[in-house]
Amino acid sequence: MMRILVTGAAGFLGSHLTDRLLREGHSVLGLDNLSTGFRENVAHLANQSRFQFEERDICEPFDPGPVDYIFNFASPASPPEYLRLPVETLRVGSVGVENMLRIAMRYGAGFLHASTSECYGDPLQHPQVESYWGNVNPVGPRSVYDEAKRFAEALTMAYHRAHGVNTHLVRIFNTYGPRLHPSDGRVISNFMMQALRGEPLTVYGDGRQTRSFCYVDDLIEGIIRLSRSDEHLPVNIGNPDEFTILECAQTVLDVTGSKSELRFEPLPTDDPTRRKPDITKARAILGWEPRITLKDGLTRSLDFFTAMLTADRDAAQ
Ligand code: UDP
Repeated sequence: MMRILVTGAAGFLGSHLTDRLLREGHSVLGLDNLSTGFRENVAHLANQSRFQFEERDICEPFDPGPVDYIFNFASPASPPEYLRLPVETLRVGSVGVENMLRIAMRYGAGFLHASTSECYGDPLQHPQVESYWGNVNPVGPRSVYDEAKRFAEALTMAYHRAHGVNTHLVRIFNTYGPRLHPSDGRVISNFMMQALRGEPLTVYGDGRQTRSFCYVDDLIEGIIRLSRSDEHLPVNIGNPDEFTILECAQTVLDVTGSKSELRFEPLPTDDPTRRKPDITKARAILGWEPRITLKDGLTRSLDFFTAMLTADRDAAQ
């Protein structure tokens, strides 16, 4: 069994990853500075003796002691959040990532960095294959996230090539499921909460832009497989089923049984027009592909969002 460091452990993906590693019997040291993570995401692990949580910013150097593996998931990840934290996002993707790579080097630990489909920017190639270099605006508002993630990939490859660190890079496409926070600003959490409240669903632009949504359990399975593989170059993990935002809204209405209307709002700057992973590489080298459809995954997420709605009402009373 391994001692594993998970950064961003109180985030949406970090907490699901932590659950999975603990289920397998490993020990996990979880770090989070709680800038976008929530203690509630790991509250159920309070009595788990193999789990330790520290509130800590990975941009500050520290020594966790010997670790066998590092999953680096610390970063704001939703557009409203990284736009609120622009400098922090660039720092955690540069200084923070280097601090974690140095720990991996010191202890001979494996290292997996959570990268993103945003590395492809507003892609001119469709679907996006790992060998595509992307179409990124380096100075637009979104660049704080895109360029931090691209720099982190370059830094990770440099530590692999120059120092022999056993690194892995996953390019994560849109993911959803329980613990995607209602105030995160993501399309799925916004639409689910709006539908359950009977409020209009806020569609940005004309709603014809596309995304491909992966259920969190499928994503975590792909990431675990990648972490145990010999692949060092980036691998796309995501669900290739592509939906327009209008189709996504309709699916949310179907699953929730809501009668909410649509309200059209301006499209954010540099919002990618389409996004769909080519997962040929993940299929070939990891034997992985997603199993859960959008409708099925939203149904599995319904209890979580309904509970959030109740929490909202209780807080308002
Ligand atoms: N979006 C929307 N309404 C919302 C939130 C997002 O129409 O309330 C759109 C957004 O403009 C984008 C897509 O849904 O085209 C996915 O947005 P999200 O923020 O979830 O993730 P992104 O893929 O942009 O990082």
